[in-house]
Amino acid sequence: MTQALENLLQEERKFEPTAEFTAQANGRPGVHEEAANDYQAFWKKQALERITWFTEPQEVLDDSNPPFFKWFKDGELNLSYNCLDRHLEDHGDQVAYHWVGEPGDTRTLTYTELAAEVNKFANGLKSLGLKKGDRVAIYMGMIPELPIAMLACARLGVIHSVVFGGFSSEALASRILDGEAHVVITQDGAWRGGSVVPLKANTDIALQKTPGVEHAIVVRRTDHGVDMEEGRDIWWHDLVDGQSDQCEPEVLNAEDPLYILYTSGTTGRPKGIVHTQGGYLTQVMTTHSYVFDLKPDEDIYWCAADIGWVTGHSYIVYGPLANRTTGVMYEGAPNYPDFDRLWQIIEDYNVTIFYTAPTAIRAFMKWGDEHVEKHDLASLRVIGTVGEPINPEAWIWYHEKIGRGSSPIVDTWWQTETGAIMITPLPGVVATKPGSATIPFPGISADVVNEEGESVPLGGGGFLVINQPWPAMARTIYGDDERYVDTYWSRFDGRYFPGDGCKRDDEGYFWLLGRVDDIMLVAGHNISTTEVESALVSHPSVAEAAVVGRKDELTGQAIAAFVTLRGDVQGDEDLLAELRDHVANTLGPIAKPKSLVFTNDLPKTRSGKIMRRLLQDISEDRQLGDVTTLANADIVAEIADKAKEGSPE
Ligand code: ATP
Ligand code: MG
Repeated sequence: MTQALENLLQEERKFEPTAEFTAQANGRPGVHEEAANDYQAFWKKQALERITWFTEPQEVLDDSNPPFFKWFKDGELNLSYNCLDRHLEDHGDQVAYHWVGEPGDTRTLTYTELAAEVNKFANGLKSLGLKKGDRVAIYMGMIPELPIAMLACARLGVIHSVVFGGFSSEALASRILDGEAHVVITQDGAWRGGSVVPLKANTDIALQKTPGVEHAIVVRRTDHGVDMEEGRDIWWHDLVDGQSDQCEPEVLNAEDPLYILYTSGTTGRPKGIVHTQGGYLTQVMTTHSYVFDLKPDEDIYWCAADIGWVTGHSYIVYGPLANRTTGVMYEGAPNYPDFDRLWQIIEDYNVTIFYTAPTAIRAFMKWGDEHVEKHDLASLRVIGTVGEPINPEAWIWYHEKIGRGSSPIVDTWWQTETGAIMITPLPGVVATKPGSATIPFPGISADVVNEEGESVPLGGGGFLVINQPWPAMARTIYGDDERYVDTYWSRFDGRYFPGDGCKRDDEGYFWLLGRVDDIMLVAGHNISTTEVESALVSHPSVAEAAVVGRKDELTGQAIAAFVTLRGDVQGDEDLLAELRDHVANTLGPIAKPKSLVFTNDLPKTRSGKIMRRLLQDISEDRQLGDVTTLANADIVAEIADKAKEGSPE
């Protein structure tokens, strides 16, 4: 470790958790041990202390039919009640969301105002005949009506299926069909990068293929003209007009479904993950509070993800609102109208907690430090990341430039399927290391195992597994119990297999290595794509890198690298040789990429994750696999051309 890095970490360890934080955590760091002694007691305590139940659960975990576990199954509650009603008497005037529109308009919603909007819309949904158990697809941008729609569904026990607004009509149609939705909620158009994404027009195309949909509800957000189909389409403002702002919350069982959400599709056909009520709320509230050291009376919290992904469900909507957080929500692109938009917002609202993804951090680095340096980010005190392994270089940049050397970074590992954060540092409690998500959250037990399912001693790598059920776990894949069992519960008996590779260091810290399918076997050595990518990114000219193993007659697999350069650095033969040597010097000669191609961008999912499987298809000259979740289709053709031209081997 370099001296500079040592100093940084010393700085970070000075972070002092607040008294409230320490009290909440029952005198941590003991909280990890306490939870490990009796994880069910730990989760029960969280569930009873944090949630307002209509009927308090007596039973914690029903494990009589694995892997179909049930949590708090005799409890009754309502999530919209927990997110809204119970805050109103004492904190109704507290801001729930400071919303910032891309064109510069803003809106502030207090808890009282948010509750009124939710109730009116819930009454509107009722007037269309929607009831408990029905499914509604929500295809929207980041406007307040999106969480309002979700909470209105939750109030009625209607199951929402949010489809990211950046998806095509094709992707929307397949998710509507798979989830058997009766109603779609959308908007005329969504602002993105200065133009309007025509969500209603996309919906119209999708609805030609989805005969089960009876109504589309449309929010007017832009002046973008839309066709409204008589009898089917209804304006949101007409639906809520005259509705009461009171709506009794449905009394729901802890195990009633709350939502369906499709995974990002990084590794193939997306899976419709089903989450339920009581366990989910328990874990999202607990993690949101502990991981971000949340102080509801003081913090301004901003999770800059899109609500279309699980991060937004758990950490923009349900966790923060149930914890009575004041949040920021931003509608548009991070580089509109300029590259400093996010830093401007942090400064304007004095944001104290900020949560984003490695893909965004790498983009900020690429855009240049000057955009950050224009702004005063002194209000920030905890910063987080999720979505992919974070390259140590990006971690250090985030720590220095955004965290100004003093805000702890929480690198949180979890998945759509886990519902909530699983492996993460707790600020001020668990010392961090750049690139490691550190240790499992209290009450979570994880291990790293070999092919046979045997625990790998510290210092070694293998498959990440979760040893025991956790409250926010997925209950199934919608309509496909068999795929649920096959995908997650078949590889290692009795344990959950997330599909990720992982290494543990001598101190027991977890280092996520990406998908196990991405791990390369070169001349008999297992090499992780993540490690080679991080070695490339640690070179000052490199902004981003993707690495895949392609078939090789001699070595089984050979390493093929795809590299995007920083700022206006130009790639030439010399740099190419330098980068290959740089990897060899960092990780050893076995990890030296056999080929390396410079590209302007990398193929990514719409959530911004690198899709290595497409690069592998290109490298091995195969027909491309499922591309429906790809964000930047043009780049694939461009890379394919470059790869064909070949690079020196
Ligand atoms: P699909 O399952 O459809 O292929 P996906 O796995 O990308 O898509 P998500 O549920 O959004 O869909 O992503 C979860 C995955 O993201 C994890 O399994 C892991 O590979 C990666 N990930 C998330 N957070 C981290 C993190 N902090 N460090 C390393 N990897 C992470
Ligand atoms: Mg996945």
